[in-house]
Order: sequence, then structure tokens, then C-alpha cells
Amino acid sequence: MSHPPIVAADEWATAVAELVAAGRRSDARGWVAATSGNFSRRIGRDALAITRSGPHKGALVAEDFLLLGLDGEVRHPLHDRVPPRPSAETLLHLQLYRAWEHVGAVIHVHSPGATVLSRRCMSAARGGQPVTVRLAGYEMLKALAGVNTHEHEEHVPVVANSQDMQALAAQVEREVIARPGVHAYLIAGHGIYTWGRDVEEAMRQVEALEFLFECELRATPAMEGAR
Ligand SMILES: [Zn+2]
Repeated sequence: MSHPPIVAADEWATAVAELVAAGRRSDARGWVAATSGNFSRRIGRDALAITRSGPHKGALVAEDFLLLGLDGEVRHPLHDRVPPRPSAETLLHLQLYRAWEHVGAVIHVHSPGATVLSRRCMSAARGGQPVTVRLAGYEMLKALAGVNTHEHEEHVPVVANSQDMQALAAQVEREVIARPGVHAYLIAGHGIYTWGRDVEEAMRQVEALEFLFECELRATPAMEGAR
């Protein structure tokens, strides 16, 4: 059985510090209620630091992170103590790092705009068609990596929620990984996944997208009786 590498203490400390800060920032915005959300950052080529299952993401400490190889093997980064339990959603993080080498960080939060708008779009969808949130004409689109103009049109995929992570990952494979150029995806009634070259870029995108989802919700109030 292969093991992820034990990483240098300073590399580990930097990764953890960046993710702790991202957790606090997300908590301040109300995106990680209860124990929701998870955060990860690549270390080197083949390993990542990721939040364990359980703690509140606004008050993370070093013991709340574990080291994972891209093969999914878990190991404590600095010694051989039995590692904490990984989150059920770890597979969705791994999938993005495996698919795209440029992904250096993945942020998943249960932000209200993403949660409500994704649910509404999924409810309005016609059977069988891929569901997306279309964002166009907003200056804020320039906060997305590689976007230089408000004339950009972003289609954020929405996948159906599931407690079966293999089924969810299969949907993401079909509707997200297969589309180059996407910056994020939504899980209906659940939240958002976004990624970037580093934690800062991923956080900038989640902040921009949540703002845009909020704009969409204000622009198109729910119809009477809509669910
Ligand atoms: Zn979640």
C-alpha cells in the first residue's frame, strides 16, 4: 500500500494557517453554519491538507487537518499517530486535484445564496437537461480567474445532492470536469465548490460568486408557491 509523503513542518504549518484563515473568513460571512464546509490545499504535487470531519470551520486548529495523498491514503503529516477521520466529501476534493494540475486549493461552503439559488434552478429544470446558473453582465465576474471583462458569461453547473459520494462524484465528472473553463459548481440545496491556484484565489471566487448569486436572487424573487 502506498503512503502519502510526510511533509516538511514549515510547509504543513503554512498550509494549515492559510486554511484556518479561510475558515474564519467564511464563518464571518455566515457560510459554514454548524459543522458544514470543508477546505483543502495542495502541498507539493501529490499531497493535500484537508479539514477532518466534525469541527466548526470558524475555529479550526492544527489537529483538525489531515494529510492525504492524491490516491486517498490518509496519514498524519508529522508522525504516525492514528489520523483523524476524513470528511465524507473528501472524494470531491480529490477529484478536482486529480483532474487539474493547476488546482492548488478547494473551498466548499454552505453559503446561503448558493444553497437557495441552486435549489431553485434544480426545481425549475426540465428532465434530463444539465442544469446551470447563468451569470452575465456583472462587473464582479472579473474576480473569476482568467476573466477580464464584464461581458463574460459564466455557466455554473448545478448537480443534484446525494449522500452517496460515489454517485455525486460521477455527476461532477460528467457535468463539471468534462467542461473546461468552469470555476465552480453547485450542489442543489447544499452549497458551492470552487477552486483556485491557491487559497486566496479560491476564496476570492467563492466571495465573488456568492455576491453574484445574491444579485440573481434579488433580481428574480421566487414565484408565489415556488419550491
Ligand atoms: Zn457540504
